[in-house]
Amino acid sequence: MIFIGMQNRGGADMVQIGRGFIPLNSLQGTIQTFTFMLCILMSCIECYIGPRISYFLVGFMIMSTSMRMIMGKTMAPLPGVLNGLLTVVAIALIGHLLRSAKKKSITDYATGKLNTVGFLEILNKKIKDKKSGSLVYYQVNNFRSINDDYGHDIGDRVLRIVSERMAGMVGKDGIVGRIGGSEFAILLNDKIDATELVSRMLKVLNEKMVFDKEGIHLDCYIEGNAGIAHFPKDAKDSNILFKCADVALMTSLKNGSNTIAVFDEKMLSKMNSDKEVEQLIKRAYDEKYFYLEYQPQYSVSDKRLRGFESLIRMKLPDGRRISPAEFIPVAEKSNLIFSIDEYVLDFVTKEFSKVVEEAKEKVTISVNISANGISRPEFVSIVENCLKKNNFKAENLEVEITEYSFDDSQEQTIKNINKLKEMGVQVALDDFGTGYASLGRLMNLSVDLLKIDKSLVDNIEKGEVNRDFINSIGSLGHLIDCKVILEGVETDSQVEYIKELDCDYIQGYVWGKPMSFENAAELIV
Ligand code: C2E
Ligand code: CA
Ligand code: CA
Repeated sequence: MIFIGMQNRGGADMVQIGRGFIPLNSLQGTIQTFTFMLCILMSCIECYIGPRISYFLVGFMIMSTSMRMIMGKTMAPLPGVLNGLLTVVAIALIGHLLRSAKKKSITDYATGKLNTVGFLEILNKKIKDKKSGSLVYYQVNNFRSINDDYGHDIGDRVLRIVSERMAGMVGKDGIVGRIGGSEFAILLNDKIDATELVSRMLKVLNEKMVFDKEGIHLDCYIEGNAGIAHFPKDAKDSNILFKCADVALMTSLKNGSNTIAVFDEKMLSKMNSDKEVEQLIKRAYDEKYFYLEYQPQYSVSDKRLRGFESLIRMKLPDGRRISPAEFIPVAEKSNLIFSIDEYVLDFVTKEFSKVVEEAKEKVTISVNISANGISRPEFVSIVENCLKKNNFKAENLEVEITEYSFDDSQEQTIKNINKLKEMGVQVALDDFGTGYASLGRLMNLSVDLLKIDKSLVDNIEKGEVNRDFINSIGSLGHLIDCKVILEGVETDSQVEYIKELDCDYIQGYVWGKPMSFENAAELIV
């Protein structure tokens, strides 16, 4: 057993521990130093709680030491007080450093707003506190071209302006964070009608941004889309909530730039079925799900065969068929469409090589090429190699493109079209009359065939205005040295009307449905 007690020896207070004696002052100093060090260590724990406890302890030590000084009328404890004050300064410094490191770790360098870590911290806290609100996921669609065209410094300034415009609109009702290259997240409280605010915000974000770069004045516009999800209604977990907002964003992208979509369950099932279709496309080549059909095209005046449009089909082992109208749009969302384009091109030129060569009259075999496919820099060489490999003449091939082919990479698309034409490949503009095809652009494009869409043909018997409209398109086509075909003609009475119009060919169930290669080959003379 260790004996602890107090004694006064030679006028000094001593603490007896066992047989040894330690001056009381020196023991108090040791305890004090130990406490101060503990406080400094504690102030490193988390940037708010640690320093607070430390301040309390050091404050208490300074007060008790000062009391000893006053009561004992001695200056001996003064170094302890000074030590305490120095400890306060150290704790304040550590707190400051920790706070600024923390701020840095949750701040996005380009915008000064929250980064993903910081944003998630706040979102998780809101969800944990059972608060409700909305999460907005916004993406700048043309950010890559802004970086490419104007440089990364302007790109960073664009991001800053976007975040500031957002923060300005959201005010105190939410927070803004940048959570990816050109992606932003906004957390809104439940007082705010998110859809209304975001639709106003899209307008503000679309306003012109003006920059000066090396004395050159630059005008810049952004395009973007937004997806909205609500919590806790859609999800009670930040990861799932983000997925919901992302699904909504993907849906809005399908509706074109500068649109908004609000998450609902149906979107999720559509996403899942799209994923299933994607898997089927990937397996389709090895498992032989794909096959082709060919729909004949005839001249209106004498019903002579012009050629065939190749149409891809998907049939699963259980007999289920998936329409190209379903799987082509899914493939178009990724690079999967490129392999479909190439597969059809190769398959068709191989299959028709011999019959086309031996035909007495010229037959044109057309192949649909996706908008992204025709704008690939390597597209022309793919066609060239394919023609060579399958011994198929360029004059017998036609590529069908749509006006969407000019949305992105317009220059490359036009370059490719011109090269294909130089080679002798014909070019058809599909689905004409459905979109916004500018007549000006049409005049500058040297396409060989205008394909008037079925939706216009459907109205052919519904009044003269509709027929006049088709007739004008026909005349316009002829003006630019281009033949005109009507798609989706289904009845003899439609054919009678068409005979009166300024159009050249018909493609439709009335004279021929899509058919097998064997049946198509029999029609070729
Ligand atoms: P599209 O290029 O406009 O093809 C014409 C569509 O109209 C075909 O549908 C065809 O079967 C259908 N059709 C033709 N005549 C008639 C008619 O008289 N009445 C009706 N109701 N329909 C008619 P399909 O084969 O389902 O193809 C749908 C779309 O899928 C095509 O529209 C095309 O955009 C795309 N597609 C089809 N095959 C390919 C392909 O090989 N590659 C690419 N990239 N897209 C393809
Ligand atoms: Ca087509
Ligand atoms: Ca069409």
